[in-house]
Amino acid sequence: MNKDDKNKTKMERTASYYLLVFLFIFLLNWFIIPKMLQNQVQLSTYKDFLENVEAGNVKFVEIQDEEIRYQIEKDGRNYFYKTGFMDDPEIINKLMEKNVEFTKIIPEKPNLFLGIILSYILPIIIFTMIGRRLFSRMDGRIGASGLNIGSGKAAKIYEPDKDKKTFEDVAGQEEAKESLMEIIDYLNNPKKYEEIGAQCPKGVLLVGPPGTGKTLMAKAVAGEAEVPFFSISGSEFVEMFVGRGAAKVRDLFDQASKHAPCIVFIDEIDTIGKKRDSSFTSNDEREQTLNQLLTEMDGFESNKGVIILAATNRPDVLDPALLRPGRFDRHVNMELPDLKGRIEILKVHLRKVKTEGEIDYNFVSRMTAGASGAQVANIVNEAALRAVRTGRSAVTTDDLVESIETVIAGQQKKNTVLSPKEKEVVAYHEIGHALVAAMQTGSAPVEKITIIPRTSGALGYTMQVEPDEKFLMTKTDAIQKIEVLCGGRAAEEVVFDCITTGAANDIEKATKLAREMVTKYGMSDKFGMMSLETSSNQYLGGDSSVTCSSETRKLIDEEVLKIIKDAQESARNILTENRDKMDRAARFLIEKETITGKEFMEAIRDE
Ligand code: ADP
Ligand code: ZN
Repeated sequence: MNKDDKNKTKMERTASYYLLVFLFIFLLNWFIIPKMLQNQVQLSTYKDFLENVEAGNVKFVEIQDEEIRYQIEKDGRNYFYKTGFMDDPEIINKLMEKNVEFTKIIPEKPNLFLGIILSYILPIIIFTMIGRRLFSRMDGRIGASGLNIGSGKAAKIYEPDKDKKTFEDVAGQEEAKESLMEIIDYLNNPKKYEEIGAQCPKGVLLVGPPGTGKTLMAKAVAGEAEVPFFSISGSEFVEMFVGRGAAKVRDLFDQASKHAPCIVFIDEIDTIGKKRDSSFTSNDEREQTLNQLLTEMDGFESNKGVIILAATNRPDVLDPALLRPGRFDRHVNMELPDLKGRIEILKVHLRKVKTEGEIDYNFVSRMTAGASGAQVANIVNEAALRAVRTGRSAVTTDDLVESIETVIAGQQKKNTVLSPKEKEVVAYHEIGHALVAAMQTGSAPVEKITIIPRTSGALGYTMQVEPDEKFLMTKTDAIQKIEVLCGGRAAEEVVFDCITTGAANDIEKATKLAREMVTKYGMSDKFGMMSLETSSNQYLGGDSSVTCSSETRKLIDEEVLKIIKDAQESARNILTENRDKMDRAARFLIEKETITGKEFMEAIRDE
C-alpha cells in the first residue's frame, strides 16, 4: 500500500467514526434523554386531576403556563402526572380547601451555554479521546500484520538529562577528548565557523568495547559545551509495531531541535543501524526506523546546532549509509584503558569514596589488566561495600585487591564445603598452575593462590600479575601461557593419576590461544604468515570465521592439537621434576587456603 492510499484510508476511517459519534449525540439529546425524563410523568385528564384533588390524594401541585403537574401518593409511593392548563378560577380555592401545597413555577431561562457544553461539547471531547486511543491501537495492530496504516503518535517526551558530567570525570581517553574538542568549540561559538563557511560535523560515532565510557564521554561533551543532553538507546526504537520506531525518531528530533544547540546521544546504534539487505530475514521495523533517522539527519541544517553522538561496539555491522559524509562521518575510538588509563580511572572513582592509608594505585591497576573503565568503577564500589561490611569507614588497598577478585571471579562462596579429598585435588591443581609459571623464565609472577570457592563456579584460582603492561606477546610467551594453563590438569595427572572436571575453563582458554596462534598470529611452522581467519567483531571477541578450505581446516586442528599436546607434556615434565616442591606448596595451601605469591615462593624454595 502506498502512502496516498494509506492516508486516504485513514481519513475515511476517522470521518466515519466522527459521523457516528455525532449521530449518537444527536439521538441522545433529542430522543433518548427526553423520553427517559418523560416516562416518569404520566398524562392525565383535567377531570382526573379534579377528582383526585377532591379525594384528597394530591400532595403537591405545580402550575405552569401551559400545564399543571401534580404528585399523588398511593400505597406509600409517589406518582407524577400532568395535564393541560385550564382557565379555572376555582382551582385555587379548591386547593386551599383541601390543603394541598401548590405553587406557580417561574420558568427559568435555560442556561444555553451550560446546556450546550454538557450535552454536546463534553461528549464530543470524550469520544474524540476514545477515538484517538482506538485508532492508535488499531494502527499498531494493523501495522504488525504488515499493512501499516498510518502511525499513532509516540507520546514519549524526551527530556534533557540533568546529570552533568565534564571531561574531569572521564579519565584517560585523551585522543577521544581531543577529537571531540572541536565539537565543543563549535557549540560554544558557532560564529567562528560560520564566518569561514565551515560546517560542523552532524554525527560522531563513538566506537569501542562495552564499558569504555562512551556514554560518559557523550555526557561530558554536552557538559563541557553546556548544552542539553538527550539520550536514547537504539533498542528503544525497535518496537513490535512497524512505524512506531520511526515516529519516535521524528519525536526525538522534533524535541531536540527545539532545544538546539544540544547533543543527542544514541546508544547501541547498531541495533537500528545494521546493514540492510544482508540477511534473508529483513526487519521492516528496523529498516523504517533507520530510514527515518537518515532522513532526519539529512533534513536538518548542520548549523542548527543539533549534534548527534552515537555509540557502538560493532562498527563492522553498521549500514554504510549511516557512515556517509553528512551523517556519522567522524569516528572516535574509545579503547580499553592501559595501565596508565586504569590508574587514572581508579583515581577518578576513588575521589568519590573515603580512603585510608596509602592506596597502591599501581599495584591495584596492574592486577586489573584488560578490565574496562566500567569494571574499574565497579571494583571501587565493591571495595567501598566491603569496607562497610567489615565495619570500617574508609577504603584501603586491601579492599580494592579483594574486590578485584570479586569482580573477576565472583563472591567468595562461604557455604560450599569441599571434602578433604576435593580440597587436596583443587590445591594441587592450583599449585600446578603456579609451579609451572614459577619454573618458567619470563612468565608473570604469581601474586596469589586461593582455594576458596567463588560464586562464579571456580573452586580456586591462581592470579598472575604482569610487572609491566605488555602490548606484544612473543611466541614463547604464548606457549608458556598455554603450559601454565595445562599445569592444573598436569598436576592432577602426576599426583592422583586421575583427572577431574576442574580444568574445563583452562582447556577452553588454552585451546582459544593455541587456535589464535595458528590462525591469527601466524605462529605455526606449517602455515607461517598465512591468514586463516577473519574476525568480524573486533570489540566483542568471538564471531571469527575461517577463511580457508575444509582440508586446511583439518590441518589447523592438527596444528592446534600439537601445540596443546606439547604444552601439556612439558607441564607434566616440570611438575614431575619438581614433585617435592609441589607437595610442600600444596600442603601449605591446604592449610592456609589463601597464600600470597611471596609465601608460595618461600614454600618452594629448597633449603
Ligand atoms: P559504555 O557506554 O562505553 O558502555 P559507560 O559510559 O556506560 O560505557 O561506562 C560505564 C561506567 O564506567 C561509567 O559510568 C563510569 O563510571 C565508568 N567509566 C568508564 N570509562 C571511564 C573513564 N574513562 N573514566 C572514568 N570512568 C569511566
Ligand atoms: Zn585451572
